[in-house]
Amino acid sequence: MKAVIIGAGMGGLSAAIALKQIGLDVEVYEQVTENKPVGAAISVWSNGVKCLNHLGLEAETAALGGIVDTMSYVDAFTGETMCRFSMQPLIDEVGQRPYPVARAELQLMLMKAYGMEDINFGKKMISVTDGPEAATVEFADGTTVTGDIVIGADGAKSLTREYVLGAPVERRYAGYVNFNGLVEVDEAVGPATEWTTYVGDGKRVSVMPIADNRFYFFFDVPMPEGEPYERGTAREVLAENFAGWAPGVQRLIEKLNPATTNRVEILDLDPFHTWVKGRVAVLGDAAHNTTPDIGQGGCSAMEDAVALQFACKEHSDDVYAALAAYESSRTERAGDLVLRARRRCDVTHAKDPEATAAWYDELRSEDGTRIIRGIVANIIGGPLT
Ligand code: FAD
Repeated sequence: MKAVIIGAGMGGLSAAIALKQIGLDVEVYEQVTENKPVGAAISVWSNGVKCLNHLGLEAETAALGGIVDTMSYVDAFTGETMCRFSMQPLIDEVGQRPYPVARAELQLMLMKAYGMEDINFGKKMISVTDGPEAATVEFADGTTVTGDIVIGADGAKSLTREYVLGAPVERRYAGYVNFNGLVEVDEAVGPATEWTTYVGDGKRVSVMPIADNRFYFFFDVPMPEGEPYERGTAREVLAENFAGWAPGVQRLIEKLNPATTNRVEILDLDPFHTWVKGRVAVLGDAAHNTTPDIGQGGCSAMEDAVALQFACKEHSDDVYAALAAYESSRTERAGDLVLRARRRCDVTHAKDPEATAAWYDELRSEDGTRIIRGIVANIIGGPLT
């Protein structure tokens, strides 16, 4: 079976490694001409780490990952710790430590694992069509390729999705903008092995450790879609939006590098259950664009990759059966994560201010049990459970 994969993001590359592992002939095509991931880091929760381990990347992932021993919530204005608890019960329950990792390093790890020289860069797909013998992809440079299957891992604005669904779909603005970047660990902002989150007024500021003494940081700022922003002005914008917040937050704003701080409007997509048309399938954000509020979009893409591997292995002589098995194993689980993230997003960002105030009160009496239960519920249910 020959698989053509469109997109060399974390979903496409995980799928490429997974399919190569079971002996498929795999080709990867990526529109950009070099490895330039957007965004600073992601938290790869235990389900994602298990997928990377399954792809043979256990030691590499652990080497890139930050150690999160504890988690805390801090009152935005007083700087008082609302709750702090160990992550160990979560690790014990799911059997795997989560790892926050730098995006560029995760991307490079996956590219090397698949084979950097085997990625066809600078190939922008402009159309995909199914056929009785093969599916065909056409690129902007006029060339075409065919595959027994075509996997569209072409991200949130996926063209493959448009083909599979027969029409473009509208993504939904989630109501906030996320500023993110990397800084050196600073104990004045948060302890070196803690995921620290400041909350107040429907906003949040978080730091979590990644390898090499760095924090991944992010600020969530609710605002209307399409507000003007000049790159490089993050410090001024954040100082204004977080005036009066605790000293740790002010310190983070002083420390961050405005030139490398990213600003992303957060969108998602209503879950849909048609992921396959003939020999063509979607995977990753193309199939389930998720807000980052539970840190599961990328993990879900990795789960897709493993599920696709299992389906292709089980139905190695029937591409239609393989893709049908892939689809039926994934759409409900991935859609559930989209909706869980959306609910979390609404509470965190004060869509209903009373519900958010109640959550802040809950945090003051939290011993970790409820939060860990929620995270475990996100983590379990994938192909490696
Ligand atoms: P992408 O990473 O978008 O890759 C798609 C690739 O396809 C790109 O390289 C693109 O250039 C290429 N492509 C697109 N169109 C074409 C075309 N026509 N032809 C050829 N190539 C094409 N997830 C987590 O698990 N944990 C987190 O903590 C987390 N935090 C996040 C924080 C933020 C602020 C955001 C925005 C997202 C976060 N996510 C997180 C989600 C995660 O980033 C995505 O789910 C993940 O990147 C999806 O990977 P993908 O490979 O499907 O898509």
